[in-house]
Amino acid sequence: MKNETSSLVRPNALPESASRPVVTPLSPSVVYASDTPDMLDAQYEGRLQGYTYSREGHPNADVVGRRLDRMEGAPHPGIVTASGMAAVSAVLLGLFKAGDHVIGGNQLYGRSLRMMNEDLPRLGLETSLVDVGDVEAVRAALRPETRLILVEAVSNPTLRVADIAGLARLAKETGVLLAVDNTFTTPRAFKPFEAGADIVIHSLTKLLAGHSDVMLGYAAAADAALAERLRVFSITAGLTPSPFDCWLAERGMLTFDLRFDRAQATAQVLADHLSALGGVRRVIYPGRADHPDHARADALLEGRFCNMVSFELDGGRAEANAFTRAAEGLSFAPTLGDVGTTLSHPASSSHRALSPEQRAALGIGEGFFRVSVGLEEPDALCAVFTEAAAAARTR
Ligand SMILES: *Cc1c(COP(=O)(O)O)cnc(C)c1O
Repeated sequence: MKNETSSLVRPNALPESASRPVVTPLSPSVVYASDTPDMLDAQYEGRLQGYTYSREGHPNADVVGRRLDRMEGAPHPGIVTASGMAAVSAVLLGLFKAGDHVIGGNQLYGRSLRMMNEDLPRLGLETSLVDVGDVEAVRAALRPETRLILVEAVSNPTLRVADIAGLARLAKETGVLLAVDNTFTTPRAFKPFEAGADIVIHSLTKLLAGHSDVMLGYAAAADAALAERLRVFSITAGLTPSPFDCWLAERGMLTFDLRFDRAQATAQVLADHLSALGGVRRVIYPGRADHPDHARADALLEGRFCNMVSFELDGGRAEANAFTRAAEGLSFAPTLGDVGTTLSHPASSSHRALSPEQRAALGIGEGFFRVSVGLEEPDALCAVFTEAAAAARTR
């Protein structure tokens, strides 16, 4: 060990080891020291790979980013950001300018909708929200200034499936970019770049990191110039993630495929179970033949219908309260993708800003729940829903 007895504050030497750690080291260093100004020139000019200042990139973010690039088949390195919304912001705020027009799905994630409705118009961009299951409706919303169509493959919380194939054709034909927020579907079920998307966005906070202990996002572009603009904007705007969050996310991602497959298999079992329970008015799961987009989901997701199930109880708020009170061991919490099953109630959370009439138009009443299925043993999980539905019915 060099400088072992140095009295300098940062002697800059690690203990020697001929062997290497199996686990990615956590690198919280904000700055990286170079040997000489010549070396720093070489780093800044890209002749030498080396980190400088962690807002511009750090090893833990790159480990997560390159792993997700491989999973998505991204042709250029994507950016890792401090949250999913930071990734949405990088795309919407980093690539376009005042006067441009952006089309979004009318059932986008709540904060993405807010950015479309409030922030982009404030900055002089125009936006339209349309049903992305209907390509002709999207075509009708196109303008000469349209630059982007932003969609989620499966919508929240009604789990409608976008016509991605049709949208990709429309986007190519008209020279408009197609961005897919792949958070719900994940690259295990759907690879947007293969389907013709230009940009892929993720909230790693959900299924990919998977343990509800990290906020992180990702965005990647199929075009090299766009990828570079995302990278530069992310550095300028300071969307940089914390190394520790990246370290935790990598740990979660190591088991992602196993967790996803298990949760998805249980989701199908739970959906079928719920459909046979008294007091449950309807069940929404893309893997069921009675789902309105079942055929499209089957083609798009190739039989991988994911871990999200929605259902509606008979009754209203009182029945919903009785249900969550009786749902022993399930977190009633507005998130998804955790190792444990979570329940969300859109009328009191994600969709509370809408009027009851607006919610009714989307099919979201007071008895409507969204379930993010986790890793519980399927029979035990179904038993909890049986109990909770009975409690709601006999309240
Ligand atoms: C959660 C979520 C986001 C936002 O991600 P955060 O990590 O919470 O910022 C964006 N899109 C979808 C579909 C989400 O579910």
